[in-house]
Amino acid sequence: MSTIEEQNFTVNSAEQAAADGAGEKAVDRTADSTAPRTDDKPPRTATPAGSSRPLIEFNGVYKTYKNGVHAVRDMNLKINRGEFVFVVGPSGAGKSTFTKLIMREEKLSAGEIFINGYRLSTIRNHQIPLLRRTMGLVFQDFRLIPTMNVFENVAFAMHVVGASNAEIRRRVSYALNMVGLAKKAKSKPNELSGGEQQRVGLARALVNNPSIIIADEPTGNVDPNMSYEIVELLNEINRRGTTVIMVTHEHQLVRDFHKRVIMIDNGTVVADSMGGDIL
Ligand code: ADP
Repeated sequence: MSTIEEQNFTVNSAEQAAADGAGEKAVDRTADSTAPRTDDKPPRTATPAGSSRPLIEFNGVYKTYKNGVHAVRDMNLKINRGEFVFVVGPSGAGKSTFTKLIMREEKLSAGEIFINGYRLSTIRNHQIPLLRRTMGLVFQDFRLIPTMNVFENVAFAMHVVGASNAEIRRRVSYALNMVGLAKKAKSKPNELSGGEQQRVGLARALVNNPSIIIADEPTGNVDPNMSYEIVELLNEINRRGTTVIMVTHEHQLVRDFHKRVIMIDNGTVVADSMGGDIL
């Protein structure tokens, strides 16, 4: 993903938050007011109360890239609201393709994916930004803007969509407090440790109050001691109601946190269980 696209993605998330009027008090929402009905009507219809549809559903999904590589094949899974899921598997297994399919960065080739009420096989182009606004992303390489301080990095996307200064201050303060970085609000990324930079990345992901946080190897560039802190923060964000999907190679971390573990190999789910015993 290019820098511009990343920023658009972040911006989209902020726009969603602004459109929702979503504030810190809404973190534990159980229904996304922006989710459309699955018949693909314009996405302002509330998901029916008590809707039993999982937040994420893959039914017989295939993804074949143009070069003929079958990156995902017959993938079936359900992830409910409020879950914390580790995704593990060897390099080349299809983990990134899986997250890209969720974000609709890649189109599925066959099967069906539902995310937050959106049917991805028929989603319209104008709905894709709305889908993405329900997601917060955390990257292995942080992707902070070096010329901006911590506050500005978290606030950036909200400014672009014209959120009020008071709203931005309130939400960014909430997010920075949540990750324990309120005192570093004026620091530049290069004045922070890797762990601190990733905490800024977490604040940026959660400031827009997403339904889902997708963290792709978030501890990959972080000191091992700090890895636990990052996962602990994701755990806290999850406890407040946000569904978390974390792709990782760090099996000890996975074992220590006793969450649901989905193992992908050769493009499909080969194990799915609680607690990491499969590792
Ligand atoms: P992982 O994240 O588990 O390492 P990926 O989803 O990146 O796995 O890759 C799965 C398979 O798809 C690999 O064989 C990889 O080479 C291939 N692949 C990934 N992205 C592309 C692409 N854009 N075009 C063609 N092949 C790709």
